[in-house]
Amino acid sequence: MNKDKKLKKLFEFYNRRYFSNRLVMPHEISFKSDLRSGKHKCAGLAIIFPDNTTALRIDKKLIEFNKLTRTVLLHEMAHISAGLESDEEHNFRWGAEIDRLYREGAYDELL
Ligand SMILES: [Zn+2]
Repeated sequence: MNKDKKLKKLFEFYNRRYFSNRLVMPHEISFKSDLRSGKHKCAGLAIIFPDNTTALRIDKKLIEFNKLTRTVLLHEMAHISAGLESDEEHNFRWGAEIDRLYREGAYDELL
């Protein structure tokens, strides 16, 4: 299985286990080089495009690091759950999702 496909499977796994399957699968889930939000480099991105398609991207440098990849994936899934259209990136709803994931054990084997 290629790495992007594995990422998609992980998304499905976490969606089932921690989000009651309510997150809509992004149109694209992939590892990409040189991810940026504005001028800042970042480890992961969840994007909504003007045509309403979505993408979840994770920095290619993390490709061999399973735990880091999972940690960044959960971070981006919390963004999707909190609503990508909000203007403030790490808003209260996003933080509440991270707290919930932590309490429910999503990070137990990751941190
Ligand atoms: Zn973020």
